[in-house]
Amino acid sequence: MKLRALVVGLLAGSLALTACGQSGSPGGSGAPVVSNAPAADVQVAGSPTFDAMKARGAVIIGVKDDQPGLGFKDATTGQYSGFDIEIARLVAAQLGFAADKIQYKTVPSAAREDTIERGEVDYYVGTYTINDNRKKRVSFAGPYFVAGQGLLVKSDNTDITGPQTLKGKKVCSVTGSTPIQRVRDQGLTEPQNIVEFQTYTQCVDQLLAGQVDAVTTDDAILKGYASQQPDQLKVVGETFSTEPYGIGLKKDDAALRGKINDILQASYDDGTWQKIYDETLGKSGSPASPPALQRY
Ligand code: GLU
Repeated sequence: MKLRALVVGLLAGSLALTACGQSGSPGGSGAPVVSNAPAADVQVAGSPTFDAMKARGAVIIGVKDDQPGLGFKDATTGQYSGFDIEIARLVAAQLGFAADKIQYKTVPSAAREDTIERGEVDYYVGTYTINDNRKKRVSFAGPYFVAGQGLLVKSDNTDITGPQTLKGKKVCSVTGSTPIQRVRDQGLTEPQNIVEFQTYTQCVDQLLAGQVDAVTTDDAILKGYASQQPDQLKVVGETFSTEPYGIGLKKDDAALRGKINDILQASYDDGTWQKIYDETLGKSGSPASPPALQRY
């Protein structure tokens, strides 16, 4: 009996400690930052995607689930949290879908265009840079944030300070991402030193294990990892690209794109976007304000 009580006590203590240690981490508990009551009588005339959502009675949103502060799934509670998740929820609510009518689908960077084209998600919110190449296959509402490529290294690293210091170093990034493409195009390190995986978590694990020297992707993503392990990881140098984040949609669904842009604009104007940012990404990043939409 006594031993059991002791074990239970120790467990409770360590749980409390864990919870305490994470209290400052981005993304919080997973509870929505804004109330997200679903809008009534929403119409999106001429949107096949919206028609499909209505017929299904649910919205399927493509996300990342391993990017703390942005798109993160808590393995214990199953709850999603982060800036991208909040934006995804806000859009769902304004399209008339309550939180319990959202189905999240994890889609890695390399599979985004295929997944959207096949209609396996209604829209995608996951650190997805708007660019002309991708616009050949999908379309984008937004941007709803602007990030920039950065570098994550071990805390004790002193020789990597920016993109020009990567020669001869092993650099990890994700298949199908703009940062890995930039490393290749600009020859920032030798082809044999470029290590690629499907997720940034895999790159971070390689960094912690000493298998690679740096992880490169958007600063917003890297800051999330660094804030989880501040003793072991740090983000270094200035950003060296512009990554405007868009909500990915079917290429031809201009009606839904216009509607989501209206939803974003309203959240910029009424302070909802700011609240979401400050409560999620803003905790591990820098202050930010909403970007100008690129309607096209
Ligand atoms: N924003 C960049 C991209 O869309 C990097 C982040 C990611 O891979 O999601 O490729």
